[in-house]
Amino acid sequence: MIKQDFNDGLLGFLDSSPTPFHATQNMAGMFANAGFTQLFEVQRWDLQEGGKYFVTRNDSSIIAFTYPRINKNYVMVGAHTDSPNLKLKPNPILKNDGVVKFAVEPYGGILFNPWFDRDLSLAGRVSYLDSNNMIKDALIDVKKAIAIIPSLAIHLDREVNEKKSVNAQTDISPVLASGDSFNFDKFLKDELAACGVKDIVELYANELSLYDTQKASYVGIENDFIASARLDNLLSCYVGMLSICSVSDDTPMLFIASDHEEVGSDSASGAGGSFLESTLKRMFGDFEELTQMLRSSLFISADNAHSIHPNYPSKHDANHAPQINRGVVIKVNSNQRYASNSKTISRFMNVASGLNEPTQNYVTRSDMGCGSTIGPIVAAKLGIDTIDVGLPTLAMHSVRELCGSDDAYSLYKIVVEMGV
Ligand code: ZN
Repeated sequence: MIKQDFNDGLLGFLDSSPTPFHATQNMAGMFANAGFTQLFEVQRWDLQEGGKYFVTRNDSSIIAFTYPRINKNYVMVGAHTDSPNLKLKPNPILKNDGVVKFAVEPYGGILFNPWFDRDLSLAGRVSYLDSNNMIKDALIDVKKAIAIIPSLAIHLDREVNEKKSVNAQTDISPVLASGDSFNFDKFLKDELAACGVKDIVELYANELSLYDTQKASYVGIENDFIASARLDNLLSCYVGMLSICSVSDDTPMLFIASDHEEVGSDSASGAGGSFLESTLKRMFGDFEELTQMLRSSLFISADNAHSIHPNYPSKHDANHAPQINRGVVIKVNSNQRYASNSKTISRFMNVASGLNEPTQNYVTRSDMGCGSTIGPIVAAKLGIDTIDVGLPTLAMHSVRELCGSDDAYSLYKIVVEMGV
């Protein structure tokens, strides 16, 4: 696959995945098309050596794996499906001052300011009761711009450029209609009907997120950049998904994309939950075999990395300041906020240098706190050798993030080669 096709596909994946549910659905579709057999956690598994499989949990996390006959030294790639956003509260309708607004709850470490004055839409999962007394759920994606969070005019806050702070309870409710006649249940039923879901006796609950309707796009004189919502971490989901679809059936590879990383991963479908461990136990029923496999395998935790910001260069350690389009970032933290160690780094660098793909090192400034991701969580739970890598990104956790148009393709080539 050439880089242009890779990147064009990335833009499509970003736009069609406004929530973890949609990202998981899209990846499941991709795996089914690529010949992976779907497994269900509630059914008995009868795995055939030489086969390849995928399984989802909570419609928001997914694992795909090959199951080769001989070699069991897996390369596992981990990413996360969730991104910071504004979620609707269970009773989401507010009416005041001549408009209808949504009551929202921030999800994850969200950068509020970029959400103002954006054309927002709504997507997620809706659960309902049908006329057969069955509880069902469906995904909706409104697509149309239906809401906006207007800024306060500068005339009403003269100190805004020096002192703006955002109150998460009172300042970020998007307006969606003038007047007060809006009926939320009718709106949801109409959206479900548009997806072919018409047999609804009662709406019970939903998990709906607002998202920016601006499409992912190339940016820059020479298209050096890609701007989009949810680059963190659909970028790595896309790399992992294409990597496992590109290797032969005899290459032991596993890909996991988990929900809830942005809130600490401690959930049934998060990397702190049992999804991966339970899947591996079903793949390797024999404890001896499972342990040998884990100790001879490698987990590549792929999440975004902070590129040095050209307007704020002092925020980086000068010797460990990744740049956009200069290659995959290897993340190191001696306090184990990242799980990379000299052995796993060497294994990764050896493959990268064999392909002439550059790598960069990232260490947070010693006087600043370090973020973390799923790498240390998985390493601790499973005892698997792990490396944390990432793609250089600016404006992480903004409603519109920025990455380079070379780096994801570079990671893809390295991961595919790691499996060989
Ligand atoms: Zn992330």
